[in-house]
Amino acid sequence: MSAPSSVLVVGASAGGLSTAEALRRKGFQGGLTVLGAESHQPYDRPPLSKQVLSGAWEPDRVTLRLPEQLSSLDAEFVLGDAAVGLDAEARTVHTASGRVLRADAIVVATGLRPRMFAGQDGLAGVHVLRTLDDAVALRAGLLGASRVVVVGDGVLGTEIAATARTMGASVTLAGPQPAPLESQFGPLIAGRLAALHAEHGVDLRLGAAVTGLAEQDGRVAGVCLATGEVLPADVVVVAFGSAPATDWLAGSGLKVDNGVVCDSSCRVADGVYAVGDVARWHHEGLGALLRLENRTNATEQAGHVAAAILGESRPYTPVPYFWTDQFDVKIQVYGLSPRCCAPD
Ligand SMILES: Cc1cc2nc3c(=O)[nH]c(=O)nc-3n(C[C@H](O)[C@H](O)[C@H](O)COP(=O)(O)OP(=O)(O)OC[C@H]3O[C@@H](n4cnc5c(N)ncnc54)[C@H](O)[C@@H]3O)c2cc1C
Repeated sequence: MSAPSSVLVVGASAGGLSTAEALRRKGFQGGLTVLGAESHQPYDRPPLSKQVLSGAWEPDRVTLRLPEQLSSLDAEFVLGDAAVGLDAEARTVHTASGRVLRADAIVVATGLRPRMFAGQDGLAGVHVLRTLDDAVALRAGLLGASRVVVVGDGVLGTEIAATARTMGASVTLAGPQPAPLESQFGPLIAGRLAALHAEHGVDLRLGAAVTGLAEQDGRVAGVCLATGEVLPADVVVVAFGSAPATDWLAGSGLKVDNGVVCDSSCRVADGVYAVGDVARWHHEGLGALLRLENRTNATEQAGHVAAAILGESRPYTPVPYFWTDQFDVKIQVYGLSPRCCAPD
């Protein structure tokens, strides 16, 4: 494919913005549109469970770029309007408000949406944390809470438990693993993480599956465990995983299987690419399809996607990296646990 004269990026966050910036850095002078479902200017998510939730930062501090930096990109930002359909052959995206956007190349950068319990939507006192609006709502909930239960023994759940505890809330952490993050870290580090949380007063109720939520008068009253026990709560944070935000690609003909499936240069189909948490690409070094949910990857992969769009296709083979901050401890992880990917 010859270099495109227009590019449409769907998803206006870390991966999408970085792709637009990388295109301009590499000299792309064509039309550039960035479409985002949220009405906020592009912002960063890692501080949401840390500085924004704790109140150390005002919410607007997470904005990724100043207005003048965004204007200098010479891109059209269409915000507060979600993509609802893609015609990959015609390279056309339809939006919730009825816009029809066409470009020579399209980048899918729509990230993840949180998993929820059936029926949790609309139940007062129940929160998820993916967006800035979620963080502001959760902070308000935590400030008035007497008993908080965080459901989820992964990175996000443990970060939220740590921050909520630092704010003075009474916090219980529930999840099926024997210790937090054991599947990623193994028993030694997971055991130390459990001890860190216990030392700071988090009540760890691990090793039992969570089966649902208890409700009273339209408000959450507790968290139900497979053992039959109900952990009482007036605020519950559901943080037991996310799914790639690919609903809008139904009927597009693109291969979607735990993310948008790409080749080793992050190309999905002719003129269509994917980047960030939503992209599941062939990592040639591992001989496997891989999808990463971390901040560093979103930026790094964006550079490769921009190069591929401009015809400099090469395999994307990063060493995965993520960090997490919990209480006064920073954990940094390079590489993958063997459970993260299996050969194609
Ligand atoms: C609370 C929190 C804390 C985190 N902490 C860390 C950390 O400490 N370390 C780390 O490495 N990573 C962390 N991460 C992960 C990191 O933030 C993500 O890996 C990164 O944001 C991925 O960027 P992305 O652009 O692929 O996806 P996202 O940032 O999710 O952006 C996707 C964007 O697409 C938009 N969108 C979705 N559907 C549509 C649609 N149909 N049409 C238009 N737009 C759409 C969304 O609104 C969103 O703005 C954290 C994530 C969260 C939520």
